[in-house]
Amino acid sequence: MLWDTGVPESAHNDPGGWSTLPKLIVYHLDRTLTDQLAEVGLKPRDITRVAISHTHGDHIGNTGLFPTATILMQQAEYSWIHSPNGPNDNVNQLMALARKLLGTPANMRLIDGDTDVFGDGSVTLVSTPGHTPGSQSLLVHLKNSGFIILSGDVVHSEENFERNIVPSLNTNKVESIASMEKIRQMIATYRATLFINHDKKQTDKLKLLPAFYD
Ligand SMILES: [Zn+2]
Repeated sequence: MLWDTGVPESAHNDPGGWSTLPKLIVYHLDRTLTDQLAEVGLKPRDITRVAISHTHGDHIGNTGLFPTATILMQQAEYSWIHSPNGPNDNVNQLMALARKLLGTPANMRLIDGDTDVFGDGSVTLVSTPGHTPGSQSLLVHLKNSGFIILSGDVVHSEENFERNIVPSLNTNKVESIASMEKIRQMIATYRATLFINHDKKQTDKLKLLPAFYD
C-alpha cells in the first residue's frame, strides 16, 4: 500500500517547477516516484492499494501511475470535490485540479471514518477532517518502531501543531483543531511518533528511502 502519490512526475527537471495554485508553494522534484519505487525494487504495478490523505494536487499528482490499484479515500473527500463550487476561488481551483488528477479510477474504496485496512491493526486510516472535508491520517503499527502516525495535512509543521495554528486555506477551522486534538490523543494512547509530512526540518532527521522503518 502506498500513502499519497506526491507532486506529478512531469515536474521532474522542469526549471519552472509545479504548484497547486500559482502563488502558493512551487515544488521542484529531484527524482520521480517511479525512480523512488525502483530503489526498493518495485514497479508502480506492484502497488495494489493507494491510500490518499486528501485530494490536494501535491498528494495525488501521480495517482494515474496506478491504474490497477484500489484507491482508498474518505467518502466525504470524494463527495466534496464533486460538489458545486464554494465562495473561495482558491479552494475551487484546488477542487478542479483534484478532479483532473484523480480522474476516474477503475477501483475505488470510499470509506467513512476510521478504517482498519488489513483487519489486523497494522494500518489504520484515521479520519482527520478540517484541512479538507475528507482529510485523513495514517496510523501504522510496526514490530520494532512501534506506532507511527503519518500526518497527511492534519498539520504542516511542529510549530503549528504546538500552537494549534490552522492554515487559512483549510476548509473548516473547528474541525481542524478537533483533528489535531484527535492526533494528540492517539499519540498519548499508542505512544506514537508523528511524522509531519510537510515539515522539512523534521523530515530531514528521518530515515528516508531506501532506508526504512520496520
Ligand atoms: Zn493539503
